[in-house]
Amino acid sequence: MNTSIFWFRKDLRLADHVALTAAIETSERVYCFASADQIGSRFDELSTNRQNSLRSSWQHLSNSLDGRLTVIKSPSELSALAIKVGANRVFVTTAYDTHGITELKAIATDLHAVGVQLMSKGSNYAIAPGTVTKADGSAYKVYTPFYRAWAQLDQGAPIGTPDLTRIAHFPSKDLAWNPQLELGNGVTAGEVEAMRTLERFLSERVENYAEKRNRADLGGTSHLSHALSHGEIHPRTILAAVPEGPDAEVFKKEIAWREFYADVLFQKPASLNEYLEPKFARMRYDEPGDKFEAWKQGKTGFPMVDAGMRQLLTTGWMHNRVRMIVASFLVKDLHLEWQLGAEWFERHLTDFDPASNSHGWQWTAGCGTDASPYYRIFNPITQGFKFDPNGDYVRKFVPELSHLAGSSALEPWEHAHGYSFGYGKRIVDHALERNESLARLEELKSL
Ligand SMILES: Cc1cc2nc3c(=O)[nH]c(=O)nc-3n(C[C@H](O)[C@H](O)[C@H](O)COP(=O)(O)OP(=O)(O)OC[C@H]3O[C@@H](n4cnc5c(N)ncnc54)[C@H](O)[C@@H]3O)c2cc1C
Repeated sequence: MNTSIFWFRKDLRLADHVALTAAIETSERVYCFASADQIGSRFDELSTNRQNSLRSSWQHLSNSLDGRLTVIKSPSELSALAIKVGANRVFVTTAYDTHGITELKAIATDLHAVGVQLMSKGSNYAIAPGTVTKADGSAYKVYTPFYRAWAQLDQGAPIGTPDLTRIAHFPSKDLAWNPQLELGNGVTAGEVEAMRTLERFLSERVENYAEKRNRADLGGTSHLSHALSHGEIHPRTILAAVPEGPDAEVFKKEIAWREFYADVLFQKPASLNEYLEPKFARMRYDEPGDKFEAWKQGKTGFPMVDAGMRQLLTTGWMHNRVRMIVASFLVKDLHLEWQLGAEWFERHLTDFDPASNSHGWQWTAGCGTDASPYYRIFNPITQGFKFDPNGDYVRKFVPELSHLAGSSALEPWEHAHGYSFGYGKRIVDHALERNESLARLEELKSL
């Protein structure tokens, strides 16, 4: 009998799945495995939120397969499993990120040693990284021209769910995880919920997306990042469902940012951890110490920064605008290297994506793509007034400020009772640190 293994990685769904469909269509029997350890980090090193979000996604997938998904500790077990079930091929979705490429190569070598072939197919993108190129074949380094070229390409229509009867049951003890596990940001994991999240967004929020997506207090974004990061929905499925219109266009452009960063990382794999603009590695940075700890715990004394960092710790998600504010604060106010923040995000974000994370950080730090002619330094106070004008977001995540009404929560230092409930004083003076950051930039230019 022609037996295969399907190795689920960041594609935890059944519908619109090129690699899974290929495995099923070319095999008589398919065993399904996912691995607990994630590329770059062991499972037990991840935050509880991230561990729970993965458990929840696997459990939902396993339920859809009537228990025919087995979670193994590490993909290095695949060659022994292939021998055990008599499989001659292991199917997987092609990886384009730095660690993913390395991992697939290593597993292909392991499998080859025991006479099993790794078959990588499809991608987790509407257009696979490396496909969108300039006329001379080189890669785009700037988003806008990338987007124009990307939007011209045919993303193809979503494909349906393959026939699941060929998926075999691997005898193992039952998964003990709770399928109803709620994620902190109101998102429940799983493919069915991902479709519901998309439908809710399209019926309730897409119309005002352009206006509301930047408001931290309004929840005007799609909250699809968790599902995209775990592959519970394919971006092709999302794009096919999005209607025409100006707001929908803005939303599609955000999906394209994900694709752009994946392309940049594919072209420059070292930019996962290294400066895309190498000269920034020579900038003068401080050593991480108490201020870094305060940033991680949301205790900097800047309400918008603290609300964001606590949203991350409690829910595993953070609003995009606030990600930029806290990232700018780490690099420009605390003078720390962006990689420190990116690692903290990796541990905690349930929507962690290596390309969007590294390049979201580098964009904000000023050393990444779309480098602006001026050096972006977010003012953590005025950003609060713009994107949380009534202080609701801050009060929600910083209870020590909940006694301050309206926008007062954004500047406790202006109020007699601002610090009455234990909120800490600001750990730096933003105006001074802004000047310091600009001075270090000048220093760098003169090197
Ligand atoms: C420092 C920093 C780190 C980030 N780390 C990650 C990460 O690890 N994983 C991640 O998915 N996103 C990351 N982002 C991008 C963005 O913050 C999230 O994708 C977004 O907040 C997810 O919420 P949403 O699904 O409601 O977004 P929506 O506004 O509804 O956008 C829809 C989808 O478009 C994509 N998208 C939106 N904005 C961006 C962006 N700026 N860059 C890349 N893709 C985008 C996401 O897939 C998102 O789900 C980061 C941004 C910054 C500034």
